Amino acid sequence: MTVKDPFNAPFGTIFGDHFTVADSNADGFSYIGKAEPIRNLELHPATHVLHYSSTCFEGLKAHRQPEGSDARVAIFRIDDHIERFRNSIKMIGLPVPSAELVHDMICHCVQATADVTPPSPGSLYIRPTAIGSEHNIGAAAYPSSATKVFVITSPVGDYFKGGIRPLSLLVETQAMRTAPHFGSIKSGANYVMAMGPTLEAKAKYGVDQILFATGGDTTETGATNFFIVTDDTIVTRNLDQTFLHGVTRRSILQLAKDTGYKVEERPIMVEELLEATKSAEMFLTGTAAAIAPVGELVHKGDKYQVRDGQPGPNTLKLRQLLVDIQTGVAEDVHGWTTPIL
Ligand SMILES: *Cc1c(COP(=O)(O)O)cnc(C)c1O
Repeated sequence: MTVKDPFNAPFGTIFGDHFTVADSNADGFSYIGKAEPIRNLELHPATHVLHYSSTCFEGLKAHRQPEGSDARVAIFRIDDHIERFRNSIKMIGLPVPSAELVHDMICHCVQATADVTPPSPGSLYIRPTAIGSEHNIGAAAYPSSATKVFVITSPVGDYFKGGIRPLSLLVETQAMRTAPHFGSIKSGANYVMAMGPTLEAKAKYGVDQILFATGGDTTETGATNFFIVTDDTIVTRNLDQTFLHGVTRRSILQLAKDTGYKVEERPIMVEELLEATKSAEMFLTGTAAAIAPVGELVHKGDKYQVRDGQPGPNTLKLRQLLVDIQTGVAEDVHGWTTPIL
């Protein structure tokens, strides 16, 4: 058997050899209290998730720590991800596991698979998932009364193979990414809904992603939050239920504030967005890529190069501040990392 190299495989296609799994029951959740060798799940064909998309997930990372540190890896902002995960589970109507249980399941799974974590810029991607596990094809209008929760890991390489490449985005003012009341939940249905418009945009305009600006109100792409930054100010959309509240977004806003940027969370209308391409930098944030620079916007068939089209100095500075905390190079003054020995 050849061992796949995470730096040469597509993101998320190699898996840790252990996982953790728990099921809800009459008095809470049953969990054996440790990681097990990963295996296929057996699901009855009537399982709720297979019919009514009762599923949600999280995406977080563990990063290798410097030589000489006690920890093998450190998990970034585990409690923020657990809080969002539990909120997603609640919003799709499933029984919700305790924060302590999810914390244990994540830590046990990472402990069991940490040794395959590639060195930076690689990391161990962690994927907690919850599914509606009741056997019931009649429950189209009811939530599943049972939850299965599991955590798997995936060693991942550099999101940008061969260096950071600025992305091209189609500014979409008609289609929605998802239904507004579901936008802040990491639920599978949202991603399949965004797929059609995204594939069409890629084929028609050769862009990498869609920047959703439904009705002119710029929010996010299919899997990342959006920022505009200059030498003194950083701007991103104020939070509401229509889009995903990124943990990377929150981290970048904190680091920007710490380093003296003026932080503005407010609506960004398309006119301002297109005008800003002349002088400001733009970037996307998400756990998978950390920060991805935007080099070009496409709107109504016209192309707008963002400054000189290259990753800007403020973008790269903020990216480095974040990565240095994740990888244990800079002091973790906000207590964002959880060491795994
Ligand atoms: C996961 C996700 C993000 C980024 O969230 P992070 O917590 O920073 O990883 C942004 N938008 C969408 C739609 C997402 O699913």
